[in-house]
Amino acid sequence: MKLIEITPEIVQLTRFGLVNCFLVREDDGLTLVDTMVKGSANGIYTAASTLNRSMRRILLTHVHMDHVGSLDVLSQQLNGVEVAVGRRESRFLTRDFHTEPGEAANKVRGSFSKVETIPSALLSDGEHYGSLMVVATPGHTPGHLSFYDPRSGTLIAGDALTSVGGLRVSGDGPAMFPLANWATWHQPTALASARKLAALEPKKIVVGHGMPIVANASQALKEAVRHAE
Ligand SMILES: [Zn+2]
Repeated sequence: MKLIEITPEIVQLTRFGLVNCFLVREDDGLTLVDTMVKGSANGIYTAASTLNRSMRRILLTHVHMDHVGSLDVLSQQLNGVEVAVGRRESRFLTRDFHTEPGEAANKVRGSFSKVETIPSALLSDGEHYGSLMVVATPGHTPGHLSFYDPRSGTLIAGDALTSVGGLRVSGDGPAMFPLANWATWHQPTALASARKLAALEPKKIVVGHGMPIVANASQALKEAVRHAE
């Protein structure tokens, strides 16, 4: 597990050079954003212990397999931990993959593994979760959420964006990382969400897959939107 300090409040954890999750400091402990693939719990614990804080909350960008793989183990071991997910996205945890009225009728894509954990908090656009602002960013999945930390102007974009081989809107990824493209539900919706994220003019951007963007992030995001257009 590789650790990269993004800001004094946010640490990125990376496995296989490709799968990321994040520890976010709050006054009462840590919020873990996403849980990586199965078998990541011990590495996440070790990372949290180096920060000398306990994990109080688990927050999910979306519920594809590579983001909820270690959720059950972590939520069982961290007795009483709060688990928060988007209200819309939570339906996939009960294996209901129907689209809703007003959404594109495309089939929801990507791998959803079986999850036992029942979320304790359901989030919607514009809410605050600890220090993080919840930004609904449908497209990769219909209920995908991103999180903005106003303390440092950092955007945790999950799979709304990828940065393997350069920052791109999900569904418009470079050929060297086709996985996020295959798993993207509806690209025009992903593009509309990316425009919404660009309007935040983030100073730094971190994503589910790829390196953090710590310089000229807002510019890079505007270019990614133009590329997807
Ligand atoms: Zn992913």
